[in-house]
Amino acid sequence: MRRSGLSLSAKVLTLVLVPLVFQLITLVAIAKLENEAEALLKESIEAKKISDAINLLSQDVYDYIGEFGRDKPMKVMTTRDAHFMMLHDRHTLHYKQLKEMVQSNARLYDSVTKSEQAAYKTFAMIRRLEEIPEEGPDEVQKLRKKLWKEIRRDIKEILGGGLAERAAEQKHLAEVDAAEQARLRDISKQIMILFAVVNTLIAISAALYLTKTIAQRLAILNDNSYRLASDMPLNPQLSGTDEIATVDKTFHNMAQAMKEAAKKERAIIDNARDFICSIDTGGKFSAVNPASQAVLERSPESLLGTHFADYVADGRESVLQILSDLKTLGDTSPVELKMKKADGTIVHVLLSAHFSKEENATFCVIHDITERRKAEMLKQEVMAMVTHDLRTPLSTLRHIFTFLESGSHGTLDKKGTDFVNAGGRNVDRLLALVNDLLDVEKADSGQIDLEKTKVSLTECFDACMASLSAFAESKGVELDFLETDLIVMADEERIDRILNNLVGNAVKFSPKGGKVTLSAVRTLEREIDFAVISVKDQGEGIPEDKLEHIFEKFHQIERRCETTDKGSGLGLAICRAFVQLHGGKIWAESKIGEGSEFKFTIPLA
Ligand code: ADP
Repeated sequence: MRRSGLSLSAKVLTLVLVPLVFQLITLVAIAKLENEAEALLKESIEAKKISDAINLLSQDVYDYIGEFGRDKPMKVMTTRDAHFMMLHDRHTLHYKQLKEMVQSNARLYDSVTKSEQAAYKTFAMIRRLEEIPEEGPDEVQKLRKKLWKEIRRDIKEILGGGLAERAAEQKHLAEVDAAEQARLRDISKQIMILFAVVNTLIAISAALYLTKTIAQRLAILNDNSYRLASDMPLNPQLSGTDEIATVDKTFHNMAQAMKEAAKKERAIIDNARDFICSIDTGGKFSAVNPASQAVLERSPESLLGTHFADYVADGRESVLQILSDLKTLGDTSPVELKMKKADGTIVHVLLSAHFSKEENATFCVIHDITERRKAEMLKQEVMAMVTHDLRTPLSTLRHIFTFLESGSHGTLDKKGTDFVNAGGRNVDRLLALVNDLLDVEKADSGQIDLEKTKVSLTECFDACMASLSAFAESKGVELDFLETDLIVMADEERIDRILNNLVGNAVKFSPKGGKVTLSAVRTLEREIDFAVISVKDQGEGIPEDKLEHIFEKFHQIERRCETTDKGSGLGLAICRAFVQLHGGKIWAESKIGEGSEFKFTIPLA
């Protein structure tokens, strides 16, 4: 490709301007020639007119000669005759016209004036001749003869003095001008033909040039975009500094950047520990990363083209449903699946899938959670075992302490009674902890069946206040609730438990003289009517970064002055599990130093 230093716009401008300038020059030349031809035409007409007028005058002179140039002319006619008068008048008129015509030509004007003077002199002599009698003495005859001689000489004088030559000159000029004019018009015609030919040549070369420098190079750009899309090497970079070369350079840079980015992405995908794949609309693997070997013990090559559902151990139909729902409903939260390894063993995975409309494919990330599952199951088993194995002996212990406290096995002294009471309280705390643990695990693993009925919130608030009033009083905290007529659809026992936990905490973390308020309002969420129940206190508050974490199991906030009623750290976890079982949510709002407000939602009846 030829190297081009001009910018594209300069090239196009040149291509337009060159023929334009050429066209202008041609037009100016043609106009000049036309003007010259026009002037010549005028000159030729003028010369012809002058030549004609002189000829006419000559004709008049010959008429005179015809009439008066012979002997004894006066016998037939006098100057008073009508014919003579007519000739005289015509003569006067022709001189007048001729003089007007030649005004601008001094030499010609001079000749005409001389001729006119000669003519009038002749007329005057003719008149004199008329007055001399034809018959008479010799002197008279001599005078007549002399006059005749003069008249003849003067008649010659009329056309002499150069007028005849001028007429010939003007005639010649008219002929020359006409020829010159024809020549100019010929040249103008030739220029026009030349212009048409040159213009056509310019147009053809411009078209060829444009095709070569612009169209062909644009075609290369276009081809490059196809090559990029089909992962083929690009054409060599275009030379030059014009816009097309710049675009091509940018395109090459962009392609290089994309290649590098793709390489990095590829490296991330290839080295990912998660099994990443794309599935076509038929549910078959279209791309798979090497992690398939680690997760399913199957090579990417062996998976390509096979159906995703073939490797699902359980719930094949529901997986297919989830994949097809992705196209219509959009992304959903990750789902847990059991998949089959090559040796038939089961692997627990978490499947996150996304359907891409542009690619018309589903992209999946499959995370192996087998180890996590095992750990969870182990934890549950341990929990179940520990809580069960602890609950029975603890209950027995509680009974023993109750017996001892009742005095049915003998009366204890003061110290003995104190020991028994302290032991009883500790057993109670242990039992409460075990029960809490059991509840939270049951709730988390979905082992709790709710017994939902219509529950009046005012009654719940009442019951809660009754059970905690003694505790509040001992802490010097006021309990209050705002009347509400909201009725929820809930398991009353669990609602009471939630309220007891929240109000218990509120009292626990309130300063002496503080107030705890219970209230409920209605709200609409996801087109369902909910009651938002609030427990508000005037305690020290909860730091913002802890507002989420306090709902996790065993999460407690470090406090400068620890309260004597140190809990298990399970109360809020139980509340959250119970609220979620009802389809609601729970959260806390707080400002340090101003108190906290715990809120949860329960569907209205
Ligand atoms: P605990 O048995 O320790 O009370 P919870 O799960 O009920 O366990 O509460 C977790 C932590 O949240 C508490 O230890 C406390 O630090 C904080 N917390 C709960 N309720 C309040 C409240 N009303 N005001 C201040 N802090 C609170």
